Amino acid sequence: MARYRESVCKLCRREGIKLFLKGDRCYSDKCAFERRDYAPGEHGHRRQKYTDYGVQLREKQKLKRIYGLLERQFRGYFARADRMRGITGTNLLLLLERRLDNMVFRLGFASSRNEARQLVMHNHFTVNGKKVNIPSYLVEVGDVIEVREKSREIARIKEALETVVRRGIPSWLELDKENFRGVVKALPAREDLTMPVQEHLVVELYSK
Ligand code: SF4
Repeated sequence: MARYRESVCKLCRREGIKLFLKGDRCYSDKCAFERRDYAPGEHGHRRQKYTDYGVQLREKQKLKRIYGLLERQFRGYFARADRMRGITGTNLLLLLERRLDNMVFRLGFASSRNEARQLVMHNHFTVNGKKVNIPSYLVEVGDVIEVREKSREIARIKEALETVVRRGIPSWLELDKENFRGVVKALPAREDLTMPVQEHLVVELYSK
């Protein structure tokens, strides 16, 4: 599967916010955005003026990058959100939140969504007792996500669990750290998702 191969820190600098794509480094003084909070490239210092379309596009790119998705996958989520009842933008965010790799990250089993994706693909998790290695697997309320017995000694997972206090576990999830187990108690309400994203602009962009 195609992936973005350049430094992900450039993505934060391009979007003008910290997207927290690199785990621990994002919280340290090594964060590239803390050092250079302007866009990458020769003209990065210049103040950017965006058209309405440009603003919508940036908002879409930001959301895609937070969840580490490529355009085609992201469009698929939008199409599904659009077919659902309710507000399309909120549906879109909820679908993205329900991804297994996101839940693994939110529960603190990985220090970034990218790392969570790799760990899921390498068969380190079960959902309701069954092995699942599909990062896009959509979890439901009540699902139990566990680190497999044989994977509990993996340093990356243990370290991530040690440092998760820094960002905290969302109120809609429950973590049993001792037993490497997490439960999806509920789906988040829109106000629980505090990422600086204006999803209605993404809807406007795709509805043209
Ligand atoms: Fe973004 Fe993290 Fe890189 Fe900082 S360290 S620029 S927050 S990915």
